[in-house]
Amino acid sequence: MNRKKQYLKIKKETPKKREARKRVSDFYPTYYIFTTEEACTQSLRCIKCPVDLLKGIKSEFNFCRTGCPLNNKIPIWIEKVKNKDIKGAFEISNETSPFPEILGMVCPQDVLCQGGCTLSKTISGSVAIGAIEVYLNEQAFKMGLKPDYGENIKKIGKRVAIIGSGPSSMSCATFLLRGGVEVDMFEKSDRPGGLLTYGIPNFKIKKDVILRRFRWMQEAGMNLHLNSNIETPEQIKRMMDDYDAIFVGAGAPRGRGARMKNEDAHGVYNVMDILKHAQKRVFEDFYESILEGKNVIVIGGGDSAMDAVRTSVRMKAKSVRCAYRRDETNMPGSHKEVVNAREEGVIFEFYTAPKEVIIDKDRYVRGLICQKTKLGSSDHTGRRKIEIIENSDFTLDCDVIILALGFDNIVFPWYDDAQINTGKWGNIIVDENKRTSNAKIYAGGDVVRGADLAVTAAADGKKAAFSILEDFNKNK
Ligand SMILES: Cc1cc2nc3c(=O)[nH]c(=O)nc-3n(C[C@H](O)[C@H](O)[C@H](O)COP(=O)(O)OP(=O)(O)OC[C@H]3O[C@@H](n4cnc5c(N)ncnc54)[C@H](O)[C@@H]3O)c2cc1C
Repeated sequence: MNRKKQYLKIKKETPKKREARKRVSDFYPTYYIFTTEEACTQSLRCIKCPVDLLKGIKSEFNFCRTGCPLNNKIPIWIEKVKNKDIKGAFEISNETSPFPEILGMVCPQDVLCQGGCTLSKTISGSVAIGAIEVYLNEQAFKMGLKPDYGENIKKIGKRVAIIGSGPSSMSCATFLLRGGVEVDMFEKSDRPGGLLTYGIPNFKIKKDVILRRFRWMQEAGMNLHLNSNIETPEQIKRMMDDYDAIFVGAGAPRGRGARMKNEDAHGVYNVMDILKHAQKRVFEDFYESILEGKNVIVIGGGDSAMDAVRTSVRMKAKSVRCAYRRDETNMPGSHKEVVNAREEGVIFEFYTAPKEVIIDKDRYVRGLICQKTKLGSSDHTGRRKIEIIENSDFTLDCDVIILALGFDNIVFPWYDDAQINTGKWGNIIVDENKRTSNAKIYAGGDVVRGADLAVTAAADGKKAAFSILEDFNKNK
């Protein structure tokens, strides 16, 4: 059969999943990595779309490459996987992406590369790009290949300080190291990786996969300073004297509240408290669970809510419900996570808005008063507004409530002194090249965009690194 028609013959496969019954008893990953046979067979489905976007021809129609914020050369590495040229595929995959094996695991491919795949517009379904990307990189690591961190590049005599160690910072560091720059990374936490480490659960991305990248960056000369909170004007002033540029990748860590009565009761948690607790459990191998035997309600419908419900199941909660104000089709997160949660026993309460926490005399949570909602007219983004149905109060019994309602930026005390312009949500304002209003400071990721995605953070970090290198070059 004509190579271009292989997708008609070969069915789209996604990585196999561990059985729900087994996976809820641990924090190991839900999905298996493709075998060589699966990856090579699935790569045959790519039709290498004829429009050669890599040569700069632009199209309004999204292809895999334009759907990817990193503009990865997807058809080229897929072709190499098909030909079992893992080294070649690995080099091309790592040329544009700072950590493809991580993004292959966590990206919402359905709306990015796979959403842009021409085959996604047919009944055959898109190429399994993310799963092939994970396979080829893990296979390369097994073969002893290591990503390029500029070990063979001559140092250019410039030093950059990076604040934060999440995906935006990891990406910025990667491309700066490749440009011959000395990098010092400052992270306030006890482990590096930002939300990849302490937010996204181990059953979605294994923590050793994140730490492996840091090991390689450190081996290439990056200095990682953990437990280093950089927030005062004095610290920034010192950094401005000591370094040639600063990249800020401090994220958007402030969890939003629900603005309901008794929200400060014992047993109401922000989603990050629970996820961090669970992730520490993975690292430190301790087994005490603050949710064991509890009836848990998670409020919210995005990816962090799905992470919270699935984590609560694994932390041995007695029951886990998700209360969400819209319906299933209007949930903002990835649909496959809803499916996974349901398989693991999570119950969904749709059209449900929280109103008041019921507490006992010691202010411990005893239940949640909710109201029924319906969808009204569309707002300016086209999203249907939520309307509360009058006199529709009802009570859900629970003893733990987890708020997963999104995140806001923190406005750091040093912004004013450093003359950093911020937006109305406290986010740092940058130009399209990630330059801030201070000529020596660059920023990217959630600190700029508000809560977004690992891949957009990575794309920002990469762009900032190229701008820093360009500015160093200009000012030589
Ligand atoms: C629960 C959860 C699940 C998610 N799941 C997904 C997913 O499946 N797929 C996806 O693409 N995205 C997901 N995201 C979003 C994604 O993780 C973020 O968009 C991404 O991590 C942002 O990267 P960043 O580098 O901007 O910031 P972060 O990852 O937030 O990293 C910021 C780092 O800066 C450090 N820091 C902050 N202030 C200071 C300071 N003053 N000094 C020193 N260090 C500081 C923080 O400790 C942190 O380590 C999820 C987010 C959450 C919360």
